[in-house]
Amino acid sequence: MRIVLVGPPGAGKGTQASLLAEHLAIPHISTGDLFRANIRQGTELGRQVDAILREGGLVPDEVTVAMAADRMAQPDAANGFLLDGFPRNITQAKALDELLAESGTKLNAVLDLEVPEEEVVRRIAGRRTCRKDSSHTFHVENKPPREEGVCDVCGGELYQREDDQEGTVRKRLAVYHEETEPIIGYYGEQGLVSTISALAPVPEVTRRALEALP
Ligand code: ADP
Ligand code: ADP
Repeated sequence: MRIVLVGPPGAGKGTQASLLAEHLAIPHISTGDLFRANIRQGTELGRQVDAILREGGLVPDEVTVAMAADRMAQPDAANGFLLDGFPRNITQAKALDELLAESGTKLNAVLDLEVPEEEVVRRIAGRRTCRKDSSHTFHVENKPPREEGVCDVCGGELYQREDDQEGTVRKRLAVYHEETEPIIGYYGEQGLVSTISALAPVPEVTRRALEALP
């Protein structure tokens, strides 16, 4: 199964992607997590994208598509994957379609997570992320870690992402509406989109997502 998750920053894409990926036994591929891992490791790619992530802009398409293609070409993704945060604009969506066509495959579903803007802001403001692995996320109210400041999964230090601070969040939401939302129409024309109300407890959203899959 090849799935794309779409939704504004803070909608719960990463949270749902981890759970769905485990349930469906396919890898969770998050371009945001891949960029942050590169930044943390001080790679050339990490140096290139660091300032862009901090400012809440989008990384250039060529860089993003090359990194995503590389990850999708790994053996564990041969039979499916769940994309989280990619594609993020029409150019990337078209590039993904071409990549899949080259390997004789296509997407099976696009899940659009809908959350009112004030809830998105609340979720992002309370999000705490693990420095060691940014796919490990918590929330000060909704999902507090067992020990304050410490990741339950790997013991890493929890912090508030710089781009989760208020000014940058507004910019990221604007980028989402302008650049990313149009891909919902693009995939809608292909009959791939299921819209899911994500204003519900995590397990309920997972249930809705599984129900929506073909
Ligand atoms: P995204 O990947 O879309 O940016 P996350 O999965 O990181 O979003 O979730 C954003 C924040 O909201 C995290 O702190 C997470 O713990 C919390 N969260 C995720 N899903 C829910 C939910 N259904 N209800 C309440 N809080 C949630
Ligand atoms: P969130 O789910 O909270 O929006 P992500 O972890 O998906 O955050 O993305 C964090 C940042 O990484 C984005 O603001 C952007 O700078 C960069 N990024 C992630 N995915 C892409 C992409 N597909 N194209 C361009 N930039 C991206």
